[in-house]
Amino acid sequence: MSTVALSNWSGSRTIAGALVEPTSLADAAEAVARSRHVRATGSRHSFNDVTDSAETLISLRHLAYRHPRLTATSGEDVPPPAVEPELDEATGRVRVSSSTRYADLALYLHDRGRSLPNFASLPHISVAGSLATATHGSGVGNPILAAQLSAVELIDADGGTRLLEDEELDGARVSLGALGLVTSMALETVSAFEVAQTVYGPVPFDAVVEGFEEISRLGYSVSCFTTLREDVFESVWVKRAGTELDAPWPSEVAGTPAMDEPFHPIPGVDPANATAQLGEAGPSWDRLPHFRADHMPSAGEEIQCEYLVPRQHAAEALRALRGLAEPLAGLVQVAEVRSVAADTAWLSPMHRQDCVAFHFTLVRDTARVAAVLPAVDAAFAPYDGRPHWGKVTAADPARVRALYPRREDFLELAARLDPDGKFRNDFVRRWVG
Ligand SMILES: Cc1cc2nc3c(=O)[nH]c(=O)nc-3n(C[C@H](O)[C@H](O)[C@H](O)COP(=O)(O)OP(=O)(O)OC[C@H]3O[C@@H](n4cnc5c(N)ncnc54)[C@H](O)[C@@H]3O)c2cc1C
Repeated sequence: MSTVALSNWSGSRTIAGALVEPTSLADAAEAVARSRHVRATGSRHSFNDVTDSAETLISLRHLAYRHPRLTATSGEDVPPPAVEPELDEATGRVRVSSSTRYADLALYLHDRGRSLPNFASLPHISVAGSLATATHGSGVGNPILAAQLSAVELIDADGGTRLLEDEELDGARVSLGALGLVTSMALETVSAFEVAQTVYGPVPFDAVVEGFEEISRLGYSVSCFTTLREDVFESVWVKRAGTELDAPWPSEVAGTPAMDEPFHPIPGVDPANATAQLGEAGPSWDRLPHFRADHMPSAGEEIQCEYLVPRQHAAEALRALRGLAEPLAGLVQVAEVRSVAADTAWLSPMHRQDCVAFHFTLVRDTARVAAVLPAVDAAFAPYDGRPHWGKVTAADPARVRALYPRREDFLELAARLDPDGKFRNDFVRRWVG
């Protein structure tokens, strides 16, 4: 057990708990059984107290799969033994150890002619941690990454092994870490496919508000970025896939031509960190994330905040975003607007409704960010905005709890698997119950 303080990826906060890093599932089960309070940590890319533990904090990083091409960039001193995923060629399902990063899984699948249908903006995050917080990418037809889940294996509060599938699956897709220590997950895959991306900008803010539906359907995945410093979206990223690649690219988006040089989502940051643009086709895993697996994602020194707003309120919420230019001046590095399709997970912010995601990369200044979070909440709360489970917010927990119609079902499932609440922390109690 380690007493060294563990900070999150961006260094914006310290994760509470005494770190245990088992090298076998038997050791992990033993650590769970002997603790009164347990939480798991993935790749530590969350920004709030979702991971905190009052006692034991377990990382399964030694049981992750590392693709040989990425071991040098994994950030690990010693690569763990390769815990190979298992691909079932007949069903297309892949079983993968929970702390494996999307980057490693994507390469494993690529070698076998398969892919996941979508990715978040970065592939550096662990599978279990991403699913637990309803991590998503973009695309009118693309739901959260947890929509691919077909089975979960976990260590329960007694240290026993459980398999969750079928009717329990919608409870387990987005678990906030409250159901147990997830050891492996089975995900549905698709045939490998190519994607190409072209970046347009700057596009006038009004044109995005008025043309949002049309713009978000220009490709398989579309992201609009604004720094809110001027009345524009500095860049609109259009990612096309499959048969979309047969059609010519639009010559312009809302009157703005495509850029003729690579761009980083945060203006001024080296575009070498971003995935290839200029319409050059490549594998899905190397285009759908904005950030390259072997480079630093985003800004690094940052705090993130995000609201998911039901799609029917897109235009009002976009205007509310513009209204944040003044309160967020000097604090916002970039804001991103994406589309996320409805899914069935009980704790998904997109539960049975298509949403628009309003994301903010803010400077890493905890006090100043905390001071403006009420303004961000006031902008999106009137449109039933749900905060992202892995990011900071000043939302009213009672308002948020009321937005999840299957919340009680989740609590029942959690109570069945973990009657004494060993895996529940303050975060789960505050936001779910
Ligand atoms: C640069 C950057 C870009 C991002 N881009 C996106 C994006 O495009 N879309 C988006 O939606 N989000 C995005 N995020 C947020 C990120 O996807 C989430 O915070 C996600 O949870 C990170 O995964 P992780 O492995 O780091 O999880 P962690 O932060 O380590 O953990 C998150 C939760 O998962 C639980 N957990 C982890 N492992 C296990 C396990 N084995 N068993 C049970 N519970 C477990 C933890 O207890 C915790 O509750 C971004 C974050 C950063 C820093």
